[in-house]
Amino acid sequence: MDDLDLLAAARAAAANAYAPYSGFAVGAAVRTRSGRIHTGTNMENASYGLSLCAEAAALACAVAEGDFQVVAIAVVGGRRDTSGGLIAGGPVTPCGRCRQLLKEAADAAGGDIRVLAANADLTEVLETTVSALLPHGFGPKDLGLG
Ligand SMILES: [Zn+2]
Repeated sequence: MDDLDLLAAARAAAANAYAPYSGFAVGAAVRTRSGRIHTGTNMENASYGLSLCAEAAALACAVAEGDFQVVAIAVVGGRRDTSGGLIAGGPVTPCGRCRQLLKEAADAAGGDIRVLAANADLTEVLETTVSALLPHGFGPKDLGLG
């Protein structure tokens, strides 16, 4: 049930994506140790390179709320159809940059993070972890910290 709530929050965020260039909407929702959920969505930019990912936005929201003990994240997305709805493709997984951001969050929380990557209608959900998505990742320990 907790996972369904997290996936639903991510899907709701995806509906608000600002993605006029790619037409690919993504929502992310992180659950923290406190039980709270923080969401984010992708926010594109005419410069393209400045576009923000949903996962990064959700993590930043958790930090802004002083609630950065992330234990799980759901990522949901898909291409928009002509009416603004989302087309259900395959599960949307975090990009390489977001995997690195999630590794930082995992290290900051002192554990791994469950990752639920889903397609737009939640009929396909890939369950994994940050450590599986980014094996041998670079983190605070590599800097002699943590
Ligand atoms: Zn990303």
